[in-house]
Order: sequence, then structure tokens, then C-alpha cells
Amino acid sequence: MRSNYLVFGQPLIEQPEIDEVIGCMKSAWLGTGPKAAEFERRLAAYKNVPYAVGLNSCTAGLHLACVVLGLQPGDEVITTPMTFCATVNAIVHAGATPVLADVDPVTMNIDPVQVKAKITKRTKALLPVHFAGRACDMDALMAIARQHDLKVIEDCAHAIETEYHGQKAGAIGDLGCFSFYSTKNIVTGEGGMVLTRDERLAKRTKMMGLHGMSADAWKRFTDDGYKHYDVEEIGFKYNMMDLQAAIGLHQITRIEGYWQRRLVIWQRYMREFADLPITLPAPLPTDERHALHLFILQIDGARCGVTRDQMLMKMHKQNIGTGVHYRSVPSLSVYRRRFGWKPEDYPNAQAIGDRTLSLPHSAKLTDDDVTDVIAAVRQALGA
Ligand SMILES: *Cc1c(COP(=O)(O)O)cnc(C)c1O
Repeated sequence: MRSNYLVFGQPLIEQPEIDEVIGCMKSAWLGTGPKAAEFERRLAAYKNVPYAVGLNSCTAGLHLACVVLGLQPGDEVITTPMTFCATVNAIVHAGATPVLADVDPVTMNIDPVQVKAKITKRTKALLPVHFAGRACDMDALMAIARQHDLKVIEDCAHAIETEYHGQKAGAIGDLGCFSFYSTKNIVTGEGGMVLTRDERLAKRTKMMGLHGMSADAWKRFTDDGYKHYDVEEIGFKYNMMDLQAAIGLHQITRIEGYWQRRLVIWQRYMREFADLPITLPAPLPTDERHALHLFILQIDGARCGVTRDQMLMKMHKQNIGTGVHYRSVPSLSVYRRRFGWKPEDYPNAQAIGDRTLSLPHSAKLTDDDVTDVIAAVRQALGA
């Protein structure tokens, strides 16, 4: 058994970002400034989208996306029950009503057939999540959106590298929201970004993310002297710091290298677990790019002899940290109370939520770490 604990979702932090953060601290420019602007330009260029707004989280981005699209109380937004609570909370914070449509059991992504069944005359937007990094069926979702005049917000927290039929995730709908939280494919500690092709939405996102003020605070003092600011709307305090961007500027240069490393780990897991009585991730799509964010096993107690929860404990006792992505949203108490949702009404999400277990899968893992994870999985299953 390994001697030290393998923490789930550890980021790989390298010397250039450490130096950049120190440089940032020495420059005494910690808040939103030139580095945040540079990081915005870099992600926009990577995604080939004209506008990007750096924020302090993807959750903030999802909230702002709902706000700038003008969602109002009574408006319904259809999203997935197989996501992090932040996706649903953002809709609620904007004053709109979340509506869930069950997922496809194989891709674990929102099922367009279920989406269609949930459309009412109050439906205003779709909020698909590219789960684990696999693109949603965007052709079908965008066709539904066009037909019913709906806005589309893509939750790309798992999907920096995701491409779908030649399009980049986050550049397909009206707005794409990205996360640089510590466990994501590239990190800034906490951090997020909204991408859009729409200049008006970009400007309003930027403004609403900084109190509703008309111009960046960091631009107020120019060579010509002081310029008065105005507050045009009641906004939020969601801006990204240069300290965060200092990390992201270097992480973003390694997107491809980190992805290649996760591909090697992914393929090794697929080979080494092929004989086990567990469900492995669906084969990678050939006409899309999967971001390989989460490597998910499904543990069915009847088939495996151990339940998912027992498996979590067995892995923990072998010093391997694992994750649960996710408990289905309707199984969480606040949503049951507030919206009356029942887990059994979303049977595919419920089945995944009860069986899902994510293995360590970051670029930080050494080959020995991966060997330890494989040994622990086999041991836990008595294989
Ligand atoms: C991580 C995550 C978020 C929230 O991202 P933050 O940057 O932590 O706010 C939203 N949606 C999904 C699917 C996520 O995995």
C-alpha cells in the first residue's frame, strides 16, 4: 500500500507560475489588471472567440450569464440533474426557475429528447453541461433552441479542450462558462471565465461582474489623470485578480501537454480495468474531442460485490482519494424541499449518482501513482 495519501484532483503547479505570482506580488498589482486582461485574450484565442471576461469562479460566470441574458422571475431554464450544485444555484440566484431533463445513461449528458419534453411557454434558456469533458449533443440542443427561440449557456467547467463537430465547446451557444478551480484541467486556484461571440453580452458581463460600474477600476487612472466612474446597474463583485491570472497565464500554455498526459492515464485505466465487473467510461467519440476531465467508474453493488460507498472507503483506506461526480441534483435535500423534485423522476441520473466514483486523473500523477490507483481498485474489488 502507498505510504502517503494520494489527494484527488491535485493540480500540477510548475515553476513559471510560481515565479509569476511572486513577480505579481512584488509589482504590488494584485487585483484586476494587465495579467487578467492577458489571460482573457489567451483563452479567447485558444477558443477562437472574440470576447472573454475573467471572473473569480465559473459559478459567478453562470450567474452572470443568466443575468445578462435578461432572465426574469418565472422564466424557466432547462439543465441537467447530473451536475454540480453550482449550475442549478446560478439559475436560482438570477431569479429564474431551474427545470431538469434527465441524462443519457451512456454519455451522462443531458438528453435532447428529455429536454423537448420539458419545454413550456415559460422556457427561456438551456444550460447544458459537457459532463466529464464529453460534448453534449449540441446539434440537437441548438436545433431545439432555434425552434423555440431559447438562449443557450454552456457549462464548460469540465470542457476546456472539448470540441464538437469542428466547433469548440463554449463557442457554440450564446455564452460559455469555464472554471479554473483547483481540480479542473487548468487552474488558477479559484477562477472562471465567460466567453461569447456577442460584444453586447461581453460588455454587460464585464460590467455586471464589477459592481455594474461603467469602466474597469484599473483604467480609471490614466496618463491624462482621473476619470469619474459611473454605476449603471446593480452588479456583483466577481472580477478575476492578476494574482489568479498569473497562474493561469502559464497553465494555459500546457493545455495540450496536460491533455496528452491524461490521455495516457485514461488509456491505461481502460486497459487495466477491462476484465473487472464495473462500468467504464463510454468509448471516446471519434468525431469530437473529449476533455478527459473525469475518469468515472460505475460500481453496481449487485455486480461487484461491493457498493460504491464501500468502494470509496476501501480506496480511502488504501490511501487513494476519490470523488463522487455527482450525487444527482434531485437527491439533494434543498432541491427536494424547494422544487419538489424526486430522484426517481430522473432515473438515469439517479442510477449514475448512486454508482459513480471518480479516480485520480490529473496530469500531476506519476506512473507509480497510477499503478497504486490500479492496484487499489483491483484489491477493493477482490480481483
Ligand atoms: C466546478 C464546477 C462548477 C463551478 O466552478 P467554480 O469555478 O468552482 O465556481 C460549475 N459546474 C460544474 C459542472 C463544475 O464541475
